[in-house]
Amino acid sequence: MNFYGLKQNELEEWLKNHNFPLAHARTIFQLVYKEKINFIHSLNHSDALLTNFPTQLLKKLAVDFDFTLPKIKTAHQSQDQTIKLLIEFSDGKSVETVLIPFHHKHTICLSTQVGCAMNCSFCYTGTQGLTRNLAPHEIIGLYLVTYKYFEEVTGKKQVKPNIVYMGQGEPLHNFDNVKKATEIFLETYGIELGPRNITLSTAGYLPGLEKFTEFPRINIALSLHSAIDEKRNALIPLNQKYPLTTILTALSKLPRLKRQYIMCEYLLIKDFNDSFADAEVLIETIKDLPVIINLIPFNPFPGSVYQRPEKSRVDEFKSWLEVKKIPAMIRTTKGDEILAACGQLYVDELNKKAKKVPTQI
Ligand code: SAH
Repeated sequence: MNFYGLKQNELEEWLKNHNFPLAHARTIFQLVYKEKINFIHSLNHSDALLTNFPTQLLKKLAVDFDFTLPKIKTAHQSQDQTIKLLIEFSDGKSVETVLIPFHHKHTICLSTQVGCAMNCSFCYTGTQGLTRNLAPHEIIGLYLVTYKYFEEVTGKKQVKPNIVYMGQGEPLHNFDNVKKATEIFLETYGIELGPRNITLSTAGYLPGLEKFTEFPRINIALSLHSAIDEKRNALIPLNQKYPLTTILTALSKLPRLKRQYIMCEYLLIKDFNDSFADAEVLIETIKDLPVIINLIPFNPFPGSVYQRPEKSRVDEFKSWLEVKKIPAMIRTTKGDEILAACGQLYVDELNKKAKKVPTQI
């Protein structure tokens, strides 16, 4: 078993089964996540932080757990300092991870699957189908290697980045693994993110939303894109099975922390969903819900049929919402010249050749 897929209580269970004191779980988590000690390396090298650590336990950990992390294959940096990494797992599959600068805090955009089964018509990742789910330790691994890379390239200690599950994949279609990874991210003696530091974005996968209360109270975002069913059907095929109104009802029933809003992403496509009439239907649909609209101008990719609206139209659309007191912001496109922007994440050639599992949603 890979260590990075363990919750602290599971490590306690393991300690108990091997007659070690339970209190070591906390120490081990602190050493691995806070001190960033590489246990395997420490077996052969003396490490000051491990002088009081029982050698027997250290050896047993090294035998029972795999401490390998995914590997960075390539890195690209764009003008706006967005960093895109291609990260490979032990089976040779890889996904892209993006580190996005936001004022004083950075955000890591994490993938949850290799490819995606949702087949949205505007999304590059969606054109490639689903290859497989990511395991909890792989999701944690993506974060850890990206964070480490970030500190290395900048040559200084950095505040731990926030997380958005907005990379490849539909996170609620990989419910159990994403849930467990989230719980690990929040462990007090581990990475110790707060629930508000993590945002999960869904295309509207109802079976996952219905049991989303099982997740810690992280932020949730919905890829809304159009409040008109025929248009949303054309953009997100999932809408035919789980229409927007059903999804919004499910979302509105979810418990929320204080001042925690539902973020709705609205992809703006030229002459498709960017008219005043589109804005009116959108306003009517969400006006009673605690939402913030995040407008994303469409990012083109090789072979895409849609176009990005003019900047003036994007601003206009925002003002139509604001006049009706709907909070809206424009997601400034980051990293688009390195194809690191929303919907541009691509599975590499290796993955494309890999056998696809049948898509079941
Ligand atoms: N499957 C989840 C997580 C992916 S999030 C979801 O759909 O929410 C990625 C975000 O980027 C989504 O809001 C998606 O709709 C948006 N996106 C996808 N392709 C895009 C493109 N070409 N241009 C702009 N945004 C895009």
